Amino acid sequence: MAEKPQPVVVQYCQVCGLPAEYCEFGSEFDKCKPWLIQNAPDLYPDLLKEANAKEADKVSDQLQSTGISSADSGSSSEAKQEEVKRLPGGKIKKKEKKEVVIEKVVRNKRKCITTVKGLELFGVKLSDASKKLGKKFATGASVVKGPTDKEQIDVQGDISYDIVEFITKTWADVPETAIFFIEDGKKVPAA
Ligand SMILES: [Zn+2]
Repeated sequence: MAEKPQPVVVQYCQVCGLPAEYCEFGSEFDKCKPWLIQNAPDLYPDLLKEANAKEADKVSDQLQSTGISSADSGSSSEAKQEEVKRLPGGKIKKKEKKEVVIEKVVRNKRKCITTVKGLELFGVKLSDASKKLGKKFATGASVVKGPTDKEQIDVQGDISYDIVEFITKTWADVPETAIFFIEDGKKVPAA
């Protein structure tokens, strides 16, 4: 039954020296990101999306600040501005929806991780939740910084089928209607 060990070519990150797939667990993940986008985009597909989104933000910022916007895009960017709050220092804080987002991430074809984001929005302590999830599913679980620097819980293995019931039973403040899965890049309600 034992699987034959297959030769694996490990790609080492030129920034932090870890195997690229472990960069996100290292302390310099932010610095690794540009290298990863260039050299290991398949390991971190989110980074590319994130980078593209940032690029788009920049462009729309430039348009707004230079006043170059066509008549019809002017009205839509005004509407957009109402949705976002500008923090001191010019940072934009997007309104955050209160929801828990679960995503199954497959790395290197064999390793599967289930990420859980947003529990903290319901007053759940992530370190506590991580321990409970690890215990319940008899697997490794840890609080890590996600691609956008927000903390999330990474659970080893695919637990996406049982996790909704566990969350709603364990944390009564989280309604099933607030739980979503990411499937093929789309957000799908769990309820
Ligand atoms: Zn790295």
